[in-house]
Amino acid sequence: MRKSILLPLFNSVKTSIFHLLFPTYCLNCSKETNEELGICSICQNELHFTRFETYNGSTPLDQLFWGRHLVNSTYSLLYFEKNRPGQHLIHQIKYKNNQPLAQHLGSEIGKKLKEIGSFNTVDALIPIPIHSKKRFIRGYNQSTELCKGITVELNTPIDEELLIKTKNTKSQTKNSKEKRFQNVSNSIKIGKREHSYKHIALVDDVITTGATLDTCIEVLKEKFPDIQISIISLAYTKN
Ligand SMILES: [Zn+2]
Repeated sequence: MRKSILLPLFNSVKTSIFHLLFPTYCLNCSKETNEELGICSICQNELHFTRFETYNGSTPLDQLFWGRHLVNSTYSLLYFEKNRPGQHLIHQIKYKNNQPLAQHLGSEIGKKLKEIGSFNTVDALIPIPIHSKKRFIRGYNQSTELCKGITVELNTPIDEELLIKTKNTKSQTKNSKEKRFQNVSNSIKIGKREHSYKHIALVDDVITTGATLDTCIEVLKEKFPDIQISIISLAYTKN
């Protein structure tokens, strides 16, 4: 009994001392914060959450794939907007080595997916692959880091070998929609390892046009026509 009262107190003292010794700063406004997310509460309020978990009907992300592919379920935690805190988050997890932040955001996604329920039948989380050269330079794949957080909540295994990036395509952000699609086509292949997945979820950091996902889905459906595919992302750029 005594132990159960003292333990939370001990933990909060421990946390306070830790923050005193190692203060953390908001990734967006650089003010000191002890928020676990690495973003102060003021900036967190500015994040544009999609709240797709509260939708009864189709979400804008579901609609993005209408007429393109039959997709099981889709989910994105945030809307991506330029010059808003969400952009800093993406920058941190993509270019600033902030893997703990990616994993933390992954677990936030996982909590929402649990609420939705339709992701419970997913057999494996498939991170959108990046080229081995890019991975070597960056040291990690940000989508895999998101998966690590998701699996804490859902217990779904991560498979990094199902999809392989064979060509090192340059950053796509400045290219037109048509050029982006051409660039990703034929650059993703299926890995050689055997599996018996019925339902997989592709995990991406930011969805803009969905061109990379289109390619992944086409490659997967060609090899495994009956496989069910769901989509999970950290952020979605609303057009
Ligand atoms: Zn802040």
